[in-house]
Amino acid sequence: MPTKDDAMELSRIPNLFPGLDKPLAIVDIETTGGSAGRDRITEIGIVEVDADGVREWSTFINPQVPIPRTIQSLTGITDDMVADAPLFEEVAKDIITRLEGKTFVAHNVRFDYGFIRNAFASLGYPLKLELLCTVKLSRALYPEHKRHSLETLIDRFNIATDARHRALADARATYQFMCAAQKDKSPEDFMAAVQQQTRRPSLPPGLSATALDELPTCAGVYYFFGENDSLLYIGKSINIRKRVMSHFTGDKASEKAMAMCQQIRHIETQTTTGELSALLLESNEIKSKQPLYNRRLRRLSTLYTIQLREDPSGLLWPRVTKAQDASRGLKMYGLFPSVKKAKSALNDCAKSNGLCDHVLVNFGESNSKKSYADISHSPCMGKQLHRCRGLCTGEFNFLQHNVLLMEALGALALQAWPYDGPVALLENQITPDAATQYTVFLVDNWCVLQQHQGEGPITARGVQEMLKSTEAELPMLDRDLYRYLVKVVLQGAYGIEIIALTD
Ligand SMILES: [Zn+2]
Repeated sequence: MPTKDDAMELSRIPNLFPGLDKPLAIVDIETTGGSAGRDRITEIGIVEVDADGVREWSTFINPQVPIPRTIQSLTGITDDMVADAPLFEEVAKDIITRLEGKTFVAHNVRFDYGFIRNAFASLGYPLKLELLCTVKLSRALYPEHKRHSLETLIDRFNIATDARHRALADARATYQFMCAAQKDKSPEDFMAAVQQQTRRPSLPPGLSATALDELPTCAGVYYFFGENDSLLYIGKSINIRKRVMSHFTGDKASEKAMAMCQQIRHIETQTTTGELSALLLESNEIKSKQPLYNRRLRRLSTLYTIQLREDPSGLLWPRVTKAQDASRGLKMYGLFPSVKKAKSALNDCAKSNGLCDHVLVNFGESNSKKSYADISHSPCMGKQLHRCRGLCTGEFNFLQHNVLLMEALGALALQAWPYDGPVALLENQITPDAATQYTVFLVDNWCVLQQHQGEGPITARGVQEMLKSTEAELPMLDRDLYRYLVKVVLQGAYGIEIIALTD
């Protein structure tokens, strides 16, 4: 049995960290890979430090999946070595008795804790421990150093180690680092750093503790950067600091979000005059910079919508158009990322409501000229399959069909644009030094056509002249923008001034 339970020589030095209010469990694990959701634990090592002294414990764990070759050569742990090892559930009790009531310490604690928390969660046991990350501790105590990997600390503090990348050896090295740092620093400095870290359990290990305090608390866009300045994520908020903090405090953050947080090395921000500017800036930036962790194509500048056109006989025909080209005064149904998606919505609508395929499905460019006369007396595919109620065969009249079509699309209906043409929206921000910054938006039919930024007071007349003198940019419309603009334009929300434009 590879489990070993040998108390160490170190145990002769009890109470090594006076002032710590909780005993410590310094943990290191080896795994089959880097994903806490997909990969498994192969070995766990724990160094317990409490009033009784220091105890060490470690065991292999049978991961029940093969260990990838690259990992085998890194850790030296082979499939054979874990073949007869206990399953996690068989040692879960041994582990939990060593962890419970202690501060969980690890070098890059989110990694080790993430795996162990997941393993317990799969047994139906929710784990919730106070965490201490020694990467962050090292960063706080030795800000003059750039590198804080275990490798670096082992070199810098001359820590003796026998089997790197094995669980107990690494847990022991982590413990030795804490001892060395505690000897090196004054008790006050050491304890202050520990307390600061345990209060902020999930700050990314690569981020300095002051990075968050320096973030602005106003509206704008933030950028997470990883190693080598790679752009990880772009987000927006009306309070940048609060929003960024929320990325690091959610205990139930998804595995993907956790993986991203692990990689953050620095944060940049760009403040804006308000939420609308932040929304637009964010969507432009995501589109042009394609950060690794933003969902691709979440935001689009071209969306399609469905409108209904009446032919001379009175029958309503759906038509798919670019949202920015939609006829004003006609209802818009839905916002779709492609013509195909809009057509498939119409297809579903025909199928589940007994509507005619000739009207909702078989239409191409020529559809815009079709009328009821073109489709009567030739049964559509839906009719042949007994889905269509028979508009095409005269069994169902066009008025009934119109009503059913409008009802079926009703759930998708967008709000009607309440103006005859475009209006200007004025977003104001009073800066701390009392200068007024503003952004003017030209908006028509829920599309943003132009935006301009400036400083100082501006009149309605000034706004009009500014907009007249410039060309429209690419129209911007997406679902978030639509929802936001509905609140502004129809409900007068967010204190945004609406300026009617006259010729
Ligand atoms: Zn039909």
